[in-house]
Amino acid sequence: MLIKNSNKNILIVGGAGYIGSHMSAFLSRIGYTPIVLDDLSTGHRDAVLDAEFIEGSIADSALLDHIFSTRSIAAVMHFASFIQVGESVRLPEKYYQNNVANTLNLLIAMLKHKINKFIFSSTAAVYGEPHYTPIDENHPIKPINPYGCSKNMIEQVLADLMHAYSFQYAVLRYFNAAGADLSGKLCERHDPETHLIPLILQVANGQREDITIYGQDYPTPDGTCVRDYIHVTDLCDAHFKALSMLEAGEKCCIYNLGTGQGYSVKQVIDAAREITGCDISVKQGARREGDPAILVADATRAMRDLKWTPQYSDLKTIIQHAWKTYS
Ligand code: UDP
Repeated sequence: MLIKNSNKNILIVGGAGYIGSHMSAFLSRIGYTPIVLDDLSTGHRDAVLDAEFIEGSIADSALLDHIFSTRSIAAVMHFASFIQVGESVRLPEKYYQNNVANTLNLLIAMLKHKINKFIFSSTAAVYGEPHYTPIDENHPIKPINPYGCSKNMIEQVLADLMHAYSFQYAVLRYFNAAGADLSGKLCERHDPETHLIPLILQVANGQREDITIYGQDYPTPDGTCVRDYIHVTDLCDAHFKALSMLEAGEKCCIYNLGTGQGYSVKQVIDAAREITGCDISVKQGARREGDPAILVADATRAMRDLKWTPQYSDLKTIIQHAWKTYS
C-alpha cells in the first residue's frame, strides 16, 4: 500500500487538461499528493481523477495566496497554457496575457510563499524554423510565432529567478505529445481539436468525415511533415524524474522530450488504418502556416541525465492507447 506523504503535495496548474490530468494521475499512482488548480477554460472537470480539485485561475493572486498558505506545497508543475500556434498569431495578446503575465503572477506568488521548485511545460516551438535535425537543446532559440515567444519569455524569467533567489526549475520542451494512459479513463480532448492523431481517430470512429493532410510537397520522403510523437505517459515519467532531480538539489535543467524518431503524416494515417481497421478517408490540403517540414528531437540529454527511456512511444503503441479511449 502506498503511504501518502504530506511533503509530496504537488500543485498541478492546468491539471484538468490533457497532459496535466495524466500527470496528476501518474503522481497519485506513485504516492505523491497532486492538487489540481484549473479554471476549466479548456480543461475538463471529469479528467481530475484522484486529486483535490480547485477551480480558479493563476491570474487570481488572492486564490494563490490562499492555496499556498493553507497547504504545504513542495513543487508546482505548470500545464495551463494556451497552445494553438495559429490562434496565437491572430490573438497574440491572449497568449501573452495567459502564458506570460499569468504565469509571472504564479511565479511571484511562489516567491512570496517560498515555494522554490517549478516544472515548466515548454515546447519545441521555442526553436522556430529548424537549422538542423534532430534538434538538441543547443539549437538557436528563435521562435516564429507568439506561442513560441510566450514560452521562451518564461524560460528567460525562470533563468533570472534562479540567479536572484534559491529558485529551482526544470524546463521541458515537448515535441508532439500524444496517446493516452493505460487506464483508458483519460484522453486527449481539445475543443476545437486541431491535433493530428485525435482528428484521425475521430474519422475512424465516425465523428468526422475525413482528415485533411496539410501539404504534400515538403522536402521529406513522402512529401508530408515529419514529427516526433511522444507518449503522454513517457512525458509524465520525465516530469517525475525532473522533479526528483530538483528534490536532489539540481538548480535548473532544460530538456527536449521526444524520441528522436520521426513519422510523417502519411505514416501516422497508415498506422491508424492498420490499428483501427478503418479506411480513413483523406483530403489533400494546403500547407498550414508555420509548419516546419521536420521536427525531431535529439533527447539524448534527457535520456542521459534523467535516466529516462520512453517506454510507450513507438507509433503503434501511441495510436493503440489513444484508440482505446476513442473506440
Ligand atoms: N496535420 C495535418 N492535418 C490535420 C492536423 C495536423 O496534416 O488536420 C499535420 C500538421 O501539419 C503537422 C502534423 O500533422 O505536420 C502534426 O500536427 P499537430 O497539430 O498534431 O501538432 P504540431 O506539430 O502542430 O504541434
